Amino acid sequence: MSWRVSCPFCRPEVASRKGASPQVVRQGWYRRKYDGRRIQRFLCRICKKSFSSLTNKPIWRQQKPYVNQDLTFLLCSGLSQRRVARHLAIDPKTVARRLIHLGDTARKANKKHLDSRPPVEKACFDDMESSIHTKLKPVSIPMVVEEKTREIIALRVCSMPAKGPLAEKSRKKYGSRKDERPEARLEVLRTLGRVAAPGLVVTSDKCPHYPALIKLALPDAKHVVVKGQRGCVAGQGELKKIGFDPLFSFNHTAAMARANINRLIRKTWCISKRMDRLQDHLDLYVWFHNHYLLKNPANKRAGTPAQTSGCVINNGWGQFIRNTRSIQDKDGIVMGPDSPESDDGSRHRRGLESTGGRVLYT
Ligand SMILES: [Zn+2]
Repeated sequence: MSWRVSCPFCRPEVASRKGASPQVVRQGWYRRKYDGRRIQRFLCRICKKSFSSLTNKPIWRQQKPYVNQDLTFLLCSGLSQRRVARHLAIDPKTVARRLIHLGDTARKANKKHLDSRPPVEKACFDDMESSIHTKLKPVSIPMVVEEKTREIIALRVCSMPAKGPLAEKSRKKYGSRKDERPEARLEVLRTLGRVAAPGLVVTSDKCPHYPALIKLALPDAKHVVVKGQRGCVAGQGELKKIGFDPLFSFNHTAAMARANINRLIRKTWCISKRMDRLQDHLDLYVWFHNHYLLKNPANKRAGTPAQTSGCVINNGWGQFIRNTRSIQDKDGIVMGPDSPESDDGSRHRRGLESTGGRVLYT
């Protein structure tokens, strides 16, 4: 019996030998621990390597893929990694590791989304600032936001030297700090260039470095410069005190990011320790913001963020937990928020026990 499975290790060779005897044969199976489902294993007769039907899939090697969706939601809702771990009854290390995976998946999904969305006609461009480990090691986050929809088009984390009274102290303690802002700004603006409509208008504040960079990355765009304003308390220092704010789309988006990402909240306990992890978290947030927080009708078909970005199993516990409706399985056992098993923090573990480890397909 031949199987329509190609070997993930030597796929091109298998393709070239089409019509020959089957190169991939079944070789046993195992039971997946978290839902008891049978997973088929295969052997490639060409390279002699074995693999399973999950090899190279987004949830490959994840012991608890059902937490992905909740994790995405909570990490983008102002909770710290430790609190998320406590809430989902998982180890903090799982949260930290999964954030890398989710960030990576979200990055690919964001890129794909940019290629399919309508061109941008008006955009706002500016920098946000945060820090790594201490205020003496600041980072800059250049970001582009579409004016009409407030969709985040691109952002990048980069290091910058400390400013003002901290500059001297920072140099003394940590040495001179690299200024990566010009390249990061250029990269972000070039991403905007990829999705720009003809006659694009870019609004920014009076920062003296912007005009040259915008001219370089977007030679056909019109650059509108507006005066920067003092921040007000309500918007995490990002929303401005004046009546009409020409950079409102950007400032509101920045304020939302600060309110929804714990490590960006001003005067928080939580702080980033690594720039790449901050980038992961922000990329995950970009997906969540564009597809979940914004009421953009164009994004409605996208489903929930983790689902669409492929990091959630569609028919397993991940969706089950998120479901607000009751689900009835084949034997008529009703599970869901109405059942007594499902209203506390350890609901997925209890759920597993009460169905004897069977999967509920939705
Ligand atoms: Zn092979």
